[in-house]
Amino acid sequence: MVKIVTVLYDGGKAAQEEPRLLGTTENCLGLREYCQKNGHELIVTSDKEGANSVFQKETTGENGAAILVSTPFHPAYLTKEIIDKSPNLKLAVTAGIGSDHVDLNAAASKGITVAEVTGSNVVSVAEHVIMTMLILVRNYNVGHALSMPGGSWSVGEVARNEFDLEGKVIGTIGAGRIGYRVLERLVPFNPSKLYYYDYNELPAEAAKKVGVERVHDLNEFLQKCDVVTVNCPLHEGTIDLINKDNIKHLKGKWLINTARGAICNAEAVAEAVNSGSLLGYGGDVWNKQPFPENHPWKAMVGPNGRGNAMTLHTSGTSLDAQARYAKGTIEIIDNFLNNKPQRKEDLIVDAGGYATAAYGQRNK
Ligand code: NAD
Repeated sequence: MVKIVTVLYDGGKAAQEEPRLLGTTENCLGLREYCQKNGHELIVTSDKEGANSVFQKETTGENGAAILVSTPFHPAYLTKEIIDKSPNLKLAVTAGIGSDHVDLNAAASKGITVAEVTGSNVVSVAEHVIMTMLILVRNYNVGHALSMPGGSWSVGEVARNEFDLEGKVIGTIGAGRIGYRVLERLVPFNPSKLYYYDYNELPAEAAKKVGVERVHDLNEFLQKCDVVTVNCPLHEGTIDLINKDNIKHLKGKWLINTARGAICNAEAVAEAVNSGSLLGYGGDVWNKQPFPENHPWKAMVGPNGRGNAMTLHTSGTSLDAQARYAKGTIEIIDNFLNNKPQRKEDLIVDAGGYATAAYGQRNK
């Protein structure tokens, strides 16, 4: 019997009414049934901040958990300090994709395996990226707001900032599973050019299929693109990748980030949108989740109401995605407990080192 701590968001009424809302404390990824059947102790909580939180109390110490499950949507921040106090912890599972809420270097040094359900929501996110591009480029939100009670028939107020996606130069930072799916979905929109910026090169056949060209220098990449989409993990090399110095290259352009909030500096983005330099910023990820009320992106708005297409962290948590990452989470736990091999692509940190080339360039 092992102890499994699971940190998820509370779904409340929504979770009671919709059993497919699996990523909630109420429905718990199907783990209640799994643990009951297999005799494991399961602690489920949304309480995750501070030393007295259920997450920290149940993970640390000599009675601490062997397995921690969390999601990027309501992340349990597994810091080095907590890892150092968690002698029993052997496996940290991300129910979804993106394990930056875990201090990966600390996990590696303690021999903790970090795994995520690779591929589980890549289509969900890619669809959201295309939607956000269209919302921003077509200035959808301003027209939608004017269509609500109290709005007026001010077509010009919308159209003054409305463009076509066709003919634009579009680039992705990160051309992995999501970035490549975004490129595939962009092809029918007839962009004038597609670029990618990534230290890992796409296979020639894959690049040819979508007609994408690699740019090695970030500033040059930003200068070339009309629309930039961010699709790389958050790690030491991508914090503030878009910052107050290089955001000037995006003057008169649009930026979409569904990867991780901290990849784009919050103040620099808000300043650029508010001043009208950046035509728009959109995505679903925030540098602190849940966001504080005074987060600069909540009040961010460009001239004439344009330019803010932010939403909650939902791009990767459609009901379809939840079914996939709930199933994948149980598979990872079951493999681990029964000494069965994991899917290679699910492993982020294993056997004391990085098992993937996606979380930064480093010597293994
Ligand atoms: P992936 O591993 O398939 O691809 C990531 C790519 O980013 C790799 O090709 C890697 O080389 C590249 N990369 C890493 N560092 C880079 C850098 N400094 N500059 C340029 N490229 C870099 O991962 P994926 O499945 O495509 O997911 C990417 C990220 O998207 C995840 O790590 C996660 O943070 C985020 N994500 C968000 C949601 C959501 O709900 N918003 C859901 C899933 C994933």
